Amino acid sequence: MIAMVLRLQPLPDELDRSYLGALMRVNALATEEEVRTHLATLDDSAALPWRRNPTLKLLSTAAGMDLAGFVMNHTTLPLRRSITSYMPDLAHGCDSNLVLIHVSGKRSCREGAYLCPDCVWEDVDFHGRSYWRRAHQLPGVYWCGKHRAPLAVVKDERAFLQPPSQALGQSARIDGAWVDTLQQHPTVRRFLDLCDTLMDRTHAFPVIAARDALRAAARTHGFRTYATKAATACADPLLSDALVDGFPSSWLAQLVPGLPAKARGRIWHQVDGVLWTATSASAATIYILAMAVLFDSADAAIQAIEGAVIAPRQPLRVRSPNITDDAAREAYVQTLASHARLQRSHPAGWYPLVQAQLKLGLPGLPHAQSGGLWTAVKAFFLEGRSLADALALAAPHQAAFEKVLLGAGSPLAMALREIVSTPQEATRGKPRIRARLSALDATGLIDKPVQNARGGAEDSRVGRRPLRAQAH
Ligand SMILES: [Zn+2]
Repeated sequence: MIAMVLRLQPLPDELDRSYLGALMRVNALATEEEVRTHLATLDDSAALPWRRNPTLKLLSTAAGMDLAGFVMNHTTLPLRRSITSYMPDLAHGCDSNLVLIHVSGKRSCREGAYLCPDCVWEDVDFHGRSYWRRAHQLPGVYWCGKHRAPLAVVKDERAFLQPPSQALGQSARIDGAWVDTLQQHPTVRRFLDLCDTLMDRTHAFPVIAARDALRAAARTHGFRTYATKAATACADPLLSDALVDGFPSSWLAQLVPGLPAKARGRIWHQVDGVLWTATSASAATIYILAMAVLFDSADAAIQAIEGAVIAPRQPLRVRSPNITDDAAREAYVQTLASHARLQRSHPAGWYPLVQAQLKLGLPGLPHAQSGGLWTAVKAFFLEGRSLADALALAAPHQAAFEKVLLGAGSPLAMALREIVSTPQEATRGKPRIRARLSALDATGLIDKPVQNARGGAEDSRVGRRPLRAQAH
């Protein structure tokens, strides 16, 4: 026999896990499974498997809300799913795909449970209980928007099931001086504006629209907007380097661990790939970081993507069915090995030509026909001079000369790759990112423990019970 369920209203911007914890306490239940069992009595859904009866749906029933309304107001899913290639037309929280809600609903934006001590005590006074605010759990957020004060963090995310007033003693305040610099940083602020805007949207943007809008903006900045092998001589700047330049490195390292330390000029697929991949290979956070760097305002970025949603789409690559080796070589000679000239002379089909040339070992020659690089290339390949001589002639473009050698050797490299079948680069692929708390800790940005200013005062309405309360 299942006992009657005591219901609570979720509080404004209360995180779903916080609401779950409040229901656990008010019903004296110890585990999520027990809460689920109780809540399922409300809509006779106990017989359904979890994946078809996600906890978020049960929580929405307890709150007296429809699932979409609960997801939009109490979860971080609208942000995490703000740019996706998987069913972008599906509204956030749409109950026609409960498996998606089950899988995505459980994720969080970052490690740790964040709180504002000032909000905690105000909420106890005003609402009768403190609660975990969704706005404090978003990536890149380290201060309270209302109090402008640094947040505090609890490493153990099980704290979400407790009232934050109880978790204060285990929390540590984020470094105040660091937060001061973040609050003044225009690109960080633009990123946070974008997060707020995307949180309010009921639907995701398709990845392709985001990619097209970002790529158009990236082109105006001269960034590389297509994938290249590391061995090519393409010298266009990378979006990933612009992110490193555009954000405080200590902040960026929390969102994309390792990115600030990457070698300049080296493609970071998770970031640079947003300009050319058509599927959700990167987390929404990466797209938002790119938007913050490439656009002057959140509104401009959103308008550009909205425009790309409705614009007739050009294929990503103009595929020429058959570019013969002779045609590729002839174009290479005619354009004096210059990709810029090739682009001007074949505006619609230059990219496949470049690809065909690279396959033949014909790399682009930046600064062709002038300067030390050209002299060195001629000396090495045409005049039989030694590598040491050629490198001396190439100064100060030795790195570019090395790229030319690698490009010329690319047919050899391709064959060697097949022979040794090298593993893919670690940065390739689609690992999901979550801001890491350990990185924050390691850089000393977590300050001293937060003092419990009320000397052990506690939530009044939802009593202070241990997490694993005794049922009675
Ligand atoms: Zn606050």
